[in-house]
Amino acid sequence: MLNTFLLRNVEIFDGTGNAPFRGDIVMKNDRIISISPPASVMDFPIAGGVIDGARYSVAPGFIDVHGHSELDILDIPSGDNKIAQGFTSEIAGNCGFTEFMEKGMSFRDFEVETEQKKIALNIAVMTGHNSLRTIVMGNENRAPSNAELNEMERILRLTLQQGAAGFSAGLWYVPGIYAETEELCRLASVLKGSGKPFSIHLRSEGDTLLESIEEACKIAKCGDNILQISHFKTWYPRNWHKLRKAVKLIRRNMQNGLSIALDRYPYLYSGTGLRMALPPQFSQMPKEILHEKLKNDETFRQEVIRITEQAGPSDCPWEQIMLLDSPQEAHKNFFGKNFVEIGKSMQCSPAEACIKLLAEEENPLGAFGLMSEDNLNEILQLPFVMPGTDAGIQDFSKQNGHPRKFGTAARFFQLAVKNGIPPQEVIRRMTSYPAAVFHLKNKGLIRENYDADLVLFDREQLSAPEDYAHPAQPAKGIIAVWVNGVLSYTENGGITGNRGGKFLKAQ
Ligand SMILES: [Zn+2]
Repeated sequence: MLNTFLLRNVEIFDGTGNAPFRGDIVMKNDRIISISPPASVMDFPIAGGVIDGARYSVAPGFIDVHGHSELDILDIPSGDNKIAQGFTSEIAGNCGFTEFMEKGMSFRDFEVETEQKKIALNIAVMTGHNSLRTIVMGNENRAPSNAELNEMERILRLTLQQGAAGFSAGLWYVPGIYAETEELCRLASVLKGSGKPFSIHLRSEGDTLLESIEEACKIAKCGDNILQISHFKTWYPRNWHKLRKAVKLIRRNMQNGLSIALDRYPYLYSGTGLRMALPPQFSQMPKEILHEKLKNDETFRQEVIRITEQAGPSDCPWEQIMLLDSPQEAHKNFFGKNFVEIGKSMQCSPAEACIKLLAEEENPLGAFGLMSEDNLNEILQLPFVMPGTDAGIQDFSKQNGHPRKFGTAARFFQLAVKNGIPPQEVIRRMTSYPAAVFHLKNKGLIRENYDADLVLFDREQLSAPEDYAHPAQPAKGIIAVWVNGVLSYTENGGITGNRGGKFLKAQ
């Protein structure tokens, strides 16, 4: 379905950060073939269509640097939630997880699968430390033997040769949480000379945030001196004041030669397992075991209710804990509601309501309101912050999950502009900047011979709400999206079903 398109007299944000200008853009097959003054392209055989851009702006396709679609894209190759918000490329394999590797697939297998399935979204994938560790030594809580470390290193090296975009870690999760800094340093050293980043979900985003940033910098220095810090935040009100110090620490490391970028989803609630609402002695139990015991052991359940009611939810008031997702039909009415409301309608305490849901379902998703709005605004003003959804793929058929899945790009633009950042600078951070960090060739700029990944948008309208009850809404103001010259989304028609994405193999 390759075609020729002409965007006439459109405001062009070329991705460099320079002020926008008006012009005509011609796309042919998968490339941008010309950019010229307004109305200068008259006689051109345009098979796909001529679009009057007078009311609109165009930018290079947005790049989601923090995705988790490395399995989802094979199930839902249309990439609905990403494409509809203007993302044309994603960096997957974040937080230390490369899910297809844990299913026994190599990067080469993945490349073949993406070609067979015809994916809509361009996708680059990092190799995750949690997955490497799981493959080599399961979930064991100990240091790896020398042989195990060598094996992880061998697999990492191979994946990088097969086009992995970097090395990611998630030291907040099992089994990464069991790894010492030294293990990560040893593995990161495989990146040396590759130009590929080390990306990390910090060991702590709260009480030991600063120490965790120090650790991340240390590991990245063992690699190729390129650090990507995931979903940068200050977690829990008692840590909100640490933002200034954290930024200072990051800037000091940048001055000393470490290249650092951050990503952030522009929302105040995180999305994670609902069991994290329980006191630590319960939330840290393996989720299957907790669920089984809550379901089958009435004495245990009463005990958990009693202790939780006494202790209160772990550091987050019940008004600020919501249910986001659960496969149970009966739970659907509660999506987007907080546990004070849910308790009321279940006629019990918020703690009892939460524990009832956890007894009925192993892993419901909760949202926790533990982030500061002022800090989000300050973070969005940093010139080295990019958008990242922290999400996989979902279509628009159900109202479940976190709204960041659907609105991150538009909301990042909306909030950054509201914070006084010039739109061209915001666009740069959504396009050429991530393309440079992750070496996405011919992407991130509107240039002749660059890939025709383009987003046509109405910049006055570009926005997305923070609505946890109705997360699955298309962002406002996205008019049309092309991926490698394939028209993949239109405002009026939705997802077109035509798919032009590719596995982006990093060299
Ligand atoms: Zn993460």
